[in-house]
Formats: sequence, structure tokens, C-alpha cells
Amino acid sequence: QAKGRGRARYEVFDDDLRGRIERRLDTELALRDAVQLGEIETWFQPIVDLQQHTVVATEALARWRRPERGLVFPGEFIAIAEEVGLIKGIGTTVLGQACQAVAALDGRMAVSVNVSPRQFVQDDFGSVVKRALKESGLPPDQLWLELTESAVLDAIDSAARTFQELRSLGVRLAIDDFGTGYSSFTHLKAFTVDLLKIDLTFIRDLECSDHDRAIVEGILRLADSLNLDVVAEGIETTGQRDLLTEMGCRYGQGYLFSKPAPAESPNVSFGD
Ligand code: C2E
Ligand code: MG
Ligand code: MG
Ligand code: MG
Repeated sequence: QAKGRGRARYEVFDDDLRGRIERRLDTELALRDAVQLGEIETWFQPIVDLQQHTVVATEALARWRRPERGLVFPGEFIAIAEEVGLIKGIGTTVLGQACQAVAALDGRMAVSVNVSPRQFVQDDFGSVVKRALKESGLPPDQLWLELTESAVLDAIDSAARTFQELRSLGVRLAIDDFGTGYSSFTHLKAFTVDLLKIDLTFIRDLECSDHDRAIVEGILRLADSLNLDVVAEGIETTGQRDLLTEMGCRYGQGYLFSKPAPAESPNVSFGD
């Protein structure tokens, strides 16, 4: 009897694990052809000037239109793409689509593109960016690149060279999810950036937490003394917007203004 129960439990575990492995392999396999088959799309979410009520930039966000499965969000494929070496292709595709889309608009709106650490440390990343600018005709100062903090960047000498190369192109560099990385200050010391994006986890409880407000004030003061622009991510309420505006945060992004959308210039509301 005991043996029977043990076995049954073992099989439940086994099926569950097997299911997970099969789904993962299936995703990996389908992801291998996604770029070639044109299944990677770029969506956009505006970044607004909180004082001027204008759109200064739009962030490019990858989506995978998977046949028979529908729209897949980055949370389900970016990390896998990094692990299995597919992020270069996906990243280059999104960069190209983003530059093309925004170059086709008139005006001075910038486009902000997420760059994974693995993409950034590839040898020819500078050339990839140059090519995207050249093919689209987008002026370099209208391209922002968002980097997340990562041990990979620290470990690799070429990261510093790539930084220099991109800066000399005139592209603007941002640290994404600022405050959540393994060592925010190390990156500020090692790399000269133009912009910090405060992670949405610090914005979420702004209205009810003095603690979080103090952290955000600290980041704003730091950014000010380093002459960096700041974008607050994940603004969902008018209360958060007003607090950030009072604190002197220049730029914001979040569902309050617009959710990500398939068009490069989605409708924006300033919240009232
Ligand atoms: P991220 O760059 O920090 O982008 C912000 C994420 O927060 C986006 O999720 C966006 O849809 C979501 N968001 C925006 N406003 C709000 C809000 O008001 N409230 C809440 N709760 N969420 C909000 P998404 O599009 O699912 O992207 C998730 C992450 O995937 C991105 O975080 C970025 O790290 C990564 N990612 C997206 N596209 C790319 C890409 O082309 N390349 C790379 N390497 N990573 C990408
Ligand atoms: Mg981002
Ligand atoms: Mg972010
Ligand atoms: Mg994030």
C-alpha cells in the first residue's frame, strides 16, 4: 500500500515536471524561428514630460505574435531568449522596427529601446546601432538605449568601450529599473549615462509610504547633482503623478498616460 502511494505521488511529480520541460522546449523551438517568420512585433508606450504635458519619447516593447497562441509578453520569452542565445536577433529586430517607426514620424520624439546585457556585450553592438540609425535615418539623439543593471556589464571590459562608442555616436543612455539592480552605484561610477528610470516598485506605494517617498526623493536629488534626467516608471494614479511632479521629477510613464500599444504614437491622456 505504502509503495503504491509513493509511486502515485512520484508519477504526479513526474507528469508535472515533464509538462514543464515539454512546454519550455516547445517555446524554445518556436522562438528559434520567430524572427525569421516575422512574429516579433514592437509595441510602444509614451514617456511624457510631467510639467509640459508633452510626449518626449516612446518606449519600444517587444511582443511575440505566436501562431495559434496569440500575443506573448516579454516576461515569457526574453529570459529564455537570453539563455539560449536568441536575444541578439530579437533585440536587433526590435531596434530596427523602433527606429523605422519613429523616423517615419515628423517631430523630435525619441524612441527608447531596451537592450539586454548579453546584447550589449556582443562585439559588434556599436555597429548594430549604427546600422539601425543609418537604415532608418533616425537622428542619433532621438535614440535612447535602456540598460538594466547587471553583473555582465561589470565583468566585461568591452562594455566600457561600447559605452564610449555609443556616446560618441550621440545616442542617449539610460539605466532601466534603477534601484533594483545588484549595485546601482557601481554603474553610476563606471558608466556615464544620461537618464535614470526609477523602477515601478518605488512608485507603486508612493501615496501611502513615507519610506518610499524618501527613497524617490533621494534618487531625484542624486540625479540632479549628477545632471541626469529621470523617468518615473509605472505611474497609474493622478496622486502618484502629482507627488512626482511636486518632487521635481521631469518625466513619467505608466498606464495613467497610456498603456503600451501597437502604434508608435498611441493616444495619451495626462490623467485629468
Ligand atoms: P521595462 O523595460 O522596465 O518596461 C516596463 C514594463 O512595465 C512593461 O512591461 C510595461 O508594459 C509595464 N508597465 C508600463 N506602465 C505600467 C504601469 O503603469 N503599471 C504596471 N504595473 N506596469 C506598467 P512589458 O512590456 O511586459 O515588458 C517587461 C520587460 O521586458 C521590460 O521591462 C523589459 O525589461 C523587457 N523587454 C521588453 N521588450 C524588450 C526588448 O525588446 N528587449 C529586451 N532586452 N527586453 C525587453
Ligand atoms: Mg525599459
Ligand atoms: Mg523598467
Ligand atoms: Mg522592468
